Amino acid sequence: MPDFDDIDLDLLREFSSPSEAAESVRAQIRSVENPELENSKLWHEQIQAALDHAMALFVDANRVEDDFSLKLDADIKVVLGSNGGNCVCIRVAQGYLVVIDRTYFISLLLYLFFAARERDYARHLSSWCFLHHCLAADRPFPLGSLLLTIAAQIQAGFLSFVTEELAKFIVYHEIGHVYQEKEGSGYLDMTKLTPELEDALRMKIDAVIAEKSDFGDEAVGVELTKFVGEFRAFHSSWSIFQTWRDPADSVWKLLLPEKDVKEFPEYASDVFAVFTMLAVDGVDLERSLESLSTRMSIWSLMKLAMDYQMRIMGQVFGNLQAPTSHPAASSRLDVIIFHLRKLAASKGLTPDSIDWDSFGSYYTTIWSKPNDDRIKDILHLCTMIDEETNVPQLPFPLQEEFSDNSSLLATGYLKVFGSAALIWDRSEFKGSREPDDIEKLEDEFDAGVVDVASQTPSALFAPSITLSQVISEIDFCIK
Ligand SMILES: [Zn+2]
Repeated sequence: MPDFDDIDLDLLREFSSPSEAAESVRAQIRSVENPELENSKLWHEQIQAALDHAMALFVDANRVEDDFSLKLDADIKVVLGSNGGNCVCIRVAQGYLVVIDRTYFISLLLYLFFAARERDYARHLSSWCFLHHCLAADRPFPLGSLLLTIAAQIQAGFLSFVTEELAKFIVYHEIGHVYQEKEGSGYLDMTKLTPELEDALRMKIDAVIAEKSDFGDEAVGVELTKFVGEFRAFHSSWSIFQTWRDPADSVWKLLLPEKDVKEFPEYASDVFAVFTMLAVDGVDLERSLESLSTRMSIWSLMKLAMDYQMRIMGQVFGNLQAPTSHPAASSRLDVIIFHLRKLAASKGLTPDSIDWDSFGSYYTTIWSKPNDDRIKDILHLCTMIDEETNVPQLPFPLQEEFSDNSSLLATGYLKVFGSAALIWDRSEFKGSREPDDIEKLEDEFDAGVVDVASQTPSALFAPSITLSQVISEIDFCIK
């Protein structure tokens, strides 16, 4: 299966501006003359356009005088290309180039798109895209472009909505790293719990206990809640942050333990991304906040996949115990929620004006312990670690190289994809978007998946079935 050439980051760093570097990658994609890649080129350009649009919205928001958006004076461009499954921001001359990996983006996009379809075939596709994202984002994603075409056929509006959300989140997250470098992270209400701060807090707590203990535990408690507390989003047992009220500005802040301080920039970039997404909405903040629960659902599923991908990457780099610099997805969501609640309060909105309830029930399902255990099991099943080299052996469907589409289907590579693609390919509905036809098309997909299940060795199919059950249990609240 041919694919576009990998991006050479060192070469890009040599350019005299981010625009020139970005243009060189685009020119290279445009110049590819391979009929098999025509559809890929088309989708490449569409996703690039979504990334450019996200960037343009950011530049516009920078021009508006308001008290909300985070202003950054920097020359930043964004480009899509094959980059070993990584999204990075590099320096080019006086500016920055955000490089988004195409497999990373497309597998994530398709996983999200199909997760929202209440159909068996869609959940299988979603789970395969999830697996590809987590296990093989550094490899080409055959049939990705075809699946995008199918997705556009089924629900074009929703596909472009998810594409835009994803483009904005990933691009703004990367810009967040630039912002921190140039402007700091003063917008983030989080403090690193240094040993000095820990000592100071301990002394303060001891002083309160000594002073108030004669008046009973309740009096001590009341006094303590004036400056120390904890924050948990919706769940009862996961990622609880300690908080304290910083005497410097009387603001409640999350405390990041010393052992996790390397994760600080990631939290800061996430919050930057979310604040910027709200700032570029073009409607007033109050309305943006009110429609947040739907978007939060997408962000949660997105973070879920990104998180497992990171854990697997940690394994690929050889040391299962190696701490990664990326915090767990549920903690990242909690930090975002903490800041959104504060933002709502600062705008005079009560917490109730955000529909946290509908998001909350969704949230507790997605971050439930059983779901996490099952997904971990599935990924473990899919990545047998070679004990001598300590490198994971990817399962057969993900490690196979193929010369073309037909050999790919013949050898059984992601037969779920294959059957869906074949059905679509010979479908008389190709090109039409009548609702009835789409129903029929989806029926055919479902029929195809059932067929494949009976033909495919269960070792290949089992992870997809289990994962698609997990996905169907996560009641996706976008309808
Ligand atoms: Zn980051």
